[in-house]
Amino acid sequence: MGDRKMAVLEILKYPHRTLKKKSKEVERIDGEIKGLIHDMTETMYGANGIGLAACQIGVPQRVIVLDVSPIDPQHSFFAMINPEIISQEGEIDHEEGCLSVPDCFEKVKRRERICVKGISPEGKEMEIAGEGILAFALQHEIDHLNGILILDRLSHLKREIYRNKLKKEKRKEERP
Ligand SMILES: [Zn+2]
Repeated sequence: MGDRKMAVLEILKYPHRTLKKKSKEVERIDGEIKGLIHDMTETMYGANGIGLAACQIGVPQRVIVLDVSPIDPQHSFFAMINPEIISQEGEIDHEEGCLSVPDCFEKVKRRERICVKGISPEGKEMEIAGEGILAFALQHEIDHLNGILILDRLSHLKREIYRNKLKKEKRKEERP
């Protein structure tokens, strides 16, 4: 990367439009993609997150970074380009939050075990099979690439409650 400076970038928040877009497949792994991965990594750690999708920093490309080691130390950091779920089993309610949906921690239906294939930043095919937090975080980040937020996986009622909470907070901020 030479002396390229890494950057902690702003994380887009709901209801930003970019978060609703389906991200595009990466066609070529060049310096730009590698720089993007560096920025995503810095931004994820800067926000104490365990995962981040490129669209969360405004780049609608299919790239994710993950480091679930604060919750499950047997796993470590990795980045994945064009991730794709190739198998999945089981179903479980998992309570999760999202850096783009502040103050929302809700149970979301997830698959218990999944296998994902994609491309590493070095351009090699990679496959990751996991359960627990690794599986949930992978599903969460792949959801982002498809324009899906945890809010979209909640009941209509819970989604409305969150929207109303946001509206109230916005009104408070707007008051002089
Ligand atoms: Zn998220």
